Amino acid sequence: MADSRDKTTDQMKMWKESRGSQRPDTLTTGGGQPIGDKLNLMTAGPRGPLLVQDVVFTDEMAHFDRERIPERVVHAKGAGAFGYFEVTHDITRYCKAKLFEHVGKTTPIAVRFSTVAGESGSADTVRDPRGFAVKFYTEEGNWDLTGNNTPIFFIKDAMLFPSFIHTQKRNPQTHMKDPDMVWDFLSLRPESLHQVSFLFSDRGLPNGFRHMNGYGSHTFKLVNADGERFYCKFHYKTDQGIKNMSVEEAGRLASTNPDYAIGDLFNAIANGNYPSWTFFIQVMTFEQAENFRFNPFDLTKVWSHKEYPLIPVGKMVLNRNPVNYFAEVEQLAFDPSNMPPGVEPSPDKMLQGRLFSYPDTHRHRLGANYLQIPVNCPFRARVSNYQRDGPMCMFDNQGGAPNYYPNSFSAPENQPRCVESKFQVSPDVARYNTDDEDNVTQVRSFYAQVLNEEERQRLCQNMAGALKDAQLFIQRRMVDNLKAAHPDYANRVQTYLDKHNMEAQEKTSVRVYSRPGVSAVAASSKM
Ligand code: NDP
Repeated sequence: MADSRDKTTDQMKMWKESRGSQRPDTLTTGGGQPIGDKLNLMTAGPRGPLLVQDVVFTDEMAHFDRERIPERVVHAKGAGAFGYFEVTHDITRYCKAKLFEHVGKTTPIAVRFSTVAGESGSADTVRDPRGFAVKFYTEEGNWDLTGNNTPIFFIKDAMLFPSFIHTQKRNPQTHMKDPDMVWDFLSLRPESLHQVSFLFSDRGLPNGFRHMNGYGSHTFKLVNADGERFYCKFHYKTDQGIKNMSVEEAGRLASTNPDYAIGDLFNAIANGNYPSWTFFIQVMTFEQAENFRFNPFDLTKVWSHKEYPLIPVGKMVLNRNPVNYFAEVEQLAFDPSNMPPGVEPSPDKMLQGRLFSYPDTHRHRLGANYLQIPVNCPFRARVSNYQRDGPMCMFDNQGGAPNYYPNSFSAPENQPRCVESKFQVSPDVARYNTDDEDNVTQVRSFYAQVLNEEERQRLCQNMAGALKDAQLFIQRRMVDNLKAAHPDYANRVQTYLDKHNMEAQEKTSVRVYSRPGVSAVAASSKM
């Protein structure tokens, strides 16, 4: 029995041991009044009824009734940990942000890993992208690099985001996951094929959170102290090495240990086996971006490593588990619009949409003052502004300082060093259609050059295994999209689909044939 226990299963025992000989605290109400009896209701006679004046009961029950806050619409199931980022290489020629100031500088970080589509009780080992969000607590405010374990995404226009996520969630009537919804949308939006190909490759089932890379995914802008601007992408490569799971192992764990990835991260850190990632950037000049063969702000495409090599920057290490999951992970809120001076958004349409959506959802989930919650609070910077009041205002609300600007009473001033860089935009405002941009070249190179023969085989098998559950006309449309990327990709997926469809047909024929009065031919002609 003792052998099967680890740091997660022994947490209560270890907590008790950490207190040594300290006596138990006095039990109190939420208001701090000591409680004499927490086992028995206050009732009129031994058989009840209960008295409303049993405030020991109502104090706890009313709080219990309010324990759940809204689940995140996406990335609901996750794990978090804390640590530091250390600069190992100088990038001040690209970026003036103080966290990159000198080699050896360290900045505290919080990281949250997650699955995307499942609810907060769902299994960790499902095929899904993984969220990989990093919060740097810098002295110039928090920087939230809110990415995934893939450098790309399914769509490139934020207008489609709510619809895309709806297809990953539950059918509005059946409340079931719905393969028609998933594959209908994906096949109607061929730009998703690159990310879909990553998803059904081996990396779609990472072995926990420690053995996968992370990416800022979007294109960002870096600005140096001289005001020079560069476009940039962020990559964090796992120092533990990439490790994925077989379909069989992931399926087994989904039923026997659905919290596998959370436990794996917690135990590694609790055992002093601190996971780390090496942090890189890719840099593109504005001139290169203007002349680039495709839109460098398109989130469905990568920048070639060969043309834009990875430039090493630093190391991220996770060395502390949360002390309390709800306080430090469930309330941990990432927002791509949190950027220190020197990091700015690019025109990436998905990033632009997320700049609004993320803080908006946090205000709904956690309240207008969510940045005062300790884990979100920019504790290394001093917040000084003209925002006041609102629910759950936790500190002194900036005391007697003026709450308007300009004023004559020594209130906080603008910092010219921190004015955002200037940039030009195309003058024609319109709703530009991007679905006819090249959606296949990088899929082709991924399929034909990055994957080896066994990996290609598994990708096609995995994809067909999921696509088979969609209507035939949707399957056909998806295979047509694959054909545009690579004929071999389409052929192999079609071969697996044919096999699945044949098996399904045989099952239906047998089932119907066994019903009295229905011929096998009649039954199979219904297919
Ligand atoms: P490279 O040969 O230089 O890069 C290929 C990259 O593919 C690797 O460095 C690795 O990225 C990644 N990779 C390897 N196996 C898998 C897998 N099973 N699933 C997802 N990614 C994998 O070529 P290019 O930079 O010219 O890119 C060629 C193609 O590689 C792209 O079209 C894209 O599909 C894919 N790719 C490129 C990335 C990039 O940032 N350039 C990143 C990821 C994939 P990593 O080192 O980040 O793990």
